[in-house]
Amino acid sequence: MKRILESVAAMVAACAAIAGMPAMAQEDEGRWSIAIHGGAGTLDRADMTPERDAAYRASLQAALDAGKAVLAGGGSALDAVEAVVTRLEDDEKFNAGRGAVFTWDGTHELDAAIMDGRDRAAGAIAGVTGVRHPIMLARKVMIDSPHVMLAGEGAEEFAHEQGVEFMPPEWFDTDARREALERMKAEKLSALDVDIKFGTVGAVALDTHGNLAAGTSTGGMTGKRWGRIGDAPVIGAGTYADNDSCAVSGTGWGEYFIRVGVAHEICTRLRYRLLAERDLLQATVPTDADGVPVDYIHSAEFVLDADKAQEEIDAVMGDVARLGGDGGVIVVTRDGFPLFSFNTTGMYRGRATSEGLDQVAIYGDE
Ligand code: ASP
Repeated sequence: MKRILESVAAMVAACAAIAGMPAMAQEDEGRWSIAIHGGAGTLDRADMTPERDAAYRASLQAALDAGKAVLAGGGSALDAVEAVVTRLEDDEKFNAGRGAVFTWDGTHELDAAIMDGRDRAAGAIAGVTGVRHPIMLARKVMIDSPHVMLAGEGAEEFAHEQGVEFMPPEWFDTDARREALERMKAEKLSALDVDIKFGTVGAVALDTHGNLAAGTSTGGMTGKRWGRIGDAPVIGAGTYADNDSCAVSGTGWGEYFIRVGVAHEICTRLRYRLLAERDLLQATVPTDADGVPVDYIHSAEFVLDADKAQEEIDAVMGDVARLGGDGGVIVVTRDGFPLFSFNTTGMYRGRATSEGLDQVAIYGDE
């Protein structure tokens, strides 16, 4: 019996070792994991100056460090996500909060969502103007309202009632985003032509208590009109978290992410893949004289290795690509693997774990 348990444990450990990442069972004390993004898109080395490249990396590292500090201090995944996203919302290089893209009418309409993997509580806001930190307003919707999603003027009224910080319209303006709108109008281009990178921001985290959280914040797509809302605030499309599977934040062509239900689809696939892999391993456990397995592998103890999780995530992003959409996702699995997948040439991204992984990257080949 002991030998069998040992061999099963060895197989579980071997699965996790494949990806070069340590296995991290949910109940492991003191372990945490985080992944962040600042948008996906056409990001080629040739188009980047060394200064710009360095500035983006510094911003990503600072945001990642803010999330790491929360998690390493035993803070919650929700607080880590908020710490990362608020930082990137204030950074005008990214399309969220300050630096958000312009709508067709020259305004900024902000979307954001946050989700708690413990009980799948969620809060989202859409088409809001003037709010400095949309992610904080989304969290207030989750905690201080009976609703999941508020939009437009109603969401702003709620924000005022909650004492959320507002900034004047000019605070959100940047020359680069204005030029993108002007070029789009002058040359009759689509948002995809001028939004060479999407620039939405997001974070996903697993805290030392085994809880997952996800958050996403964006200005949407340049020149949007008619109250267009993207995937970021749509729970299950651009944002999702469930302690039983994973936490996901997306960036890209929102309409496709909504149609595929990207974030929820990834979590569902990971949940079923874990059960399927567990079943495969269970089938290898010998049975006694009555045909009863001598041991049961409980799914709560089973680790879905990073390679298999990556396959499922890539399959969902492949589906987005097949429909004609592009973009990327960051994922932290319930076992603590921080993973990326994108079908663009690059994605501003970063990830870190309590095991010492700590990296930021931009291009697809790094
Ligand atoms: N996904 C966002 C949207 O469609 C855009 C982005 O990722 O930058 O609104």
